[in-house]
Amino acid sequence: MTETSAIQDFQSLGLGARVLRGVRAAGFNTPSPIQAKAIPEILKQNDLIAQAQTGTGKTAAFALPILEMIDHRNGLEALVITPTRELAMQISDEIFKLGRFLRTRTVCVYGGQSIKKQCDLIAKNPQVMIATPGRLLDHLQNGRLENFTPKFVVLDESDEMLDMGFLDEIEEIFNYLPNNIQILLFSATMPPAIKKLAEKILHNPVHIRIAPANVINTDIMQRYYIVEDNARKDAIIALLTKENIEKGIIFTRTKKEADNLFEYLKARGHKAQCLHGDMDQRSRRAAMLEFKEKKCDILVATDVAARGLDVSDVSHVFNYHIPLNPEIYVHRIGRTGRAGKKGSAITLVTSLEFKELRSIQKEVGGKLEPYEGEGISQKRMLAHHIRQEILKFKVSDEAFELYEELERDSDLPQITLRLLSLHLQTLENNSKKRLQNKAKNSYKRGKRAR
Ligand code: ADP
Ligand code: MG
Repeated sequence: MTETSAIQDFQSLGLGARVLRGVRAAGFNTPSPIQAKAIPEILKQNDLIAQAQTGTGKTAAFALPILEMIDHRNGLEALVITPTRELAMQISDEIFKLGRFLRTRTVCVYGGQSIKKQCDLIAKNPQVMIATPGRLLDHLQNGRLENFTPKFVVLDESDEMLDMGFLDEIEEIFNYLPNNIQILLFSATMPPAIKKLAEKILHNPVHIRIAPANVINTDIMQRYYIVEDNARKDAIIALLTKENIEKGIIFTRTKKEADNLFEYLKARGHKAQCLHGDMDQRSRRAAMLEFKEKKCDILVATDVAARGLDVSDVSHVFNYHIPLNPEIYVHRIGRTGRAGKKGSAITLVTSLEFKELRSIQKEVGGKLEPYEGEGISQKRMLAHHIRQEILKFKVSDEAFELYEELERDSDLPQITLRLLSLHLQTLENNSKKRLQNKAKNSYKRGKRAR
């Protein structure tokens, strides 16, 4: 099957044991699409232009192969240029985390920090420098960096650097760098000015572009189901009862989660199977076979294990958590709605995950509807909305005094209930008014047209 071939595991990308240990310790299970494509190219020592949306794991996409290739005995070997100090610190943290078992040391170089202190840190011979353009150029122009000969240079968040007016500085920085370096340019978008810069400074770069995911398969009905974080299992049980399931796959983030949920379902009489990377090849095959032949109707799986999974008649895909990024979402829900059949994809979300939900919705293009016929979830949404609305208000002195007064001789839950009723009444009146206005306006328009 070609469409899932983009999802691989980290072991197959050419990284060594110690880097892989760092990956595991960071809790990364599956490489993101940009990681799967960029890491092997970088390890082949190619220059690279890589484009992928934000939040797709571009940092590890360059950090992991660089960690693999730097030789940890010399001094500075890699330079990462990034637009802001916050990003510099974030990248430094991630490299430190991923390079734990190699003892990789990093230094951040950005404006606003004392020059002397920065020079002291640089003198300690870290392997990786993460710098903002302005301060780095300042060091270079003033001859504060001796033997500055990194082998790898990364331009991170290049479009941001363009927006912030750093392109001239970046070109200037390259005047101070040796010729035989490997240059990696990462960006979420590729405006012409960045392309031009790339042409000037990169040598025969490989181009990688991860297109924003796009689900146009209208055979898949996509819905989300609002849950409390600790009520996911019950939500699944409820959904399994309500939905008419031919075959369903429940995707979890981790193997442990898969095991847990599988046991839970089994204990409640569901015919389920489990599929994840810790199982040996034989039990994996057996599980797959059972599912294919419909001896069980639920498969609890992790992404890696479900790679290449091609089962006909999957009627439902459940996301136990909202997936890390749109690509994974698309891969997962693509297990259903195949061969012209209808399918359902239901994603469990907590109210804290609405932001992620929206970003998936935006990038996926399809429509994600709230799960219908589910009174509780509608209420939860309303409750969430009201809480957010209320929390927007600052507590005024007057309110505070009133509260103290009320607290003295009233039942506060009663008061809260009544205040909520008042608020709901207002909401309802407002929306009725809106509807009436709409009707009035369209009536007016109609009259005018006549
Ligand atoms: P980008 O630079 O593309 O905007 P980042 O590199 O900042 O994205 O990554 C976004 C988040 O995803 C970070 O918290 C990072 O630790 C996490 N992340 C990256 N790769 C993976 C992965 N393979 N599995 C799980 N989490 C990941
Ligand atoms: Mg980034």
